[in-house]
Amino acid sequence: MKTQYRVLGKLKRLDEKLYRLQTELERIPEEIKKLEAKLVQHKEEFGLHKNNFETTEKTLRKAELDLKEKEDFIQKSEGKMMECKTNEEYQAAQKEIEGFKTEKNKLEEIALTMMNGIEGHRTLLKNAEAMFKEQESFTNKEKKEYEEASQKLLKSYEEQGQQKEGIVSQLSPETSSLYRKVFALTKGIAICLTENSGCLGCNMKIRPQLFNEILGGKAIHRCPSCGRILITASSEVDENNIADAQI
Ligand SMILES: [Zn+2]
Repeated sequence: MKTQYRVLGKLKRLDEKLYRLQTELERIPEEIKKLEAKLVQHKEEFGLHKNNFETTEKTLRKAELDLKEKEDFIQKSEGKMMECKTNEEYQAAQKEIEGFKTEKNKLEEIALTMMNGIEGHRTLLKNAEAMFKEQESFTNKEKKEYEEASQKLLKSYEEQGQQKEGIVSQLSPETSSLYRKVFALTKGIAICLTENSGCLGCNMKIRPQLFNEILGGKAIHRCPSCGRILITASSEVDENNIADAQI
């Protein structure tokens, strides 16, 4: 039975490794999702500033065209003024020109405001574009690294999984089937330590008789509360580490 406990100790360590690998593997798609969400945010900001810039530019072009039109009107009216025969005609033409000039001034103000604003919008657009591009290349780089890491983790997971099969085969048929059953029920953490008549998995107390049997390696027991197979710390000692320590 003591040998079985040593095998269970090895299995516990391996299961913990597999559990960590699995957690890491599951974390990667989450991290990629976060990166992609951030990139979408930058893309939206870039789009917003692009829209603002284009609207301002359009308004400016329109004001410039209207301004040109008013200037033409003024020029034509001034030409007409020269041909006026009566004072009334002359005054009417002068009034018309005054009206065009007032409109021209307003348009000049609009054009000036747009011209001043457009530089600010251009800067915001450039910054937003640079930030988006930067985030895009960062995301691509990170994604590539995550994918490579994922491949490595997966390979390691498969290797450890194969190694685990070898270890499980060292268990007696009864212990092996018990282990598989508990493994399925506990989602990967089938074995845990017991110390001072307590289960370190769920922190509940176990009967002293049960604890003594585990301690003496007389029988294999599950925690009555969480159902995990209980072993003592001495079963978990890594034989390789002992060998290292002795050197
Ligand atoms: Zn427990």
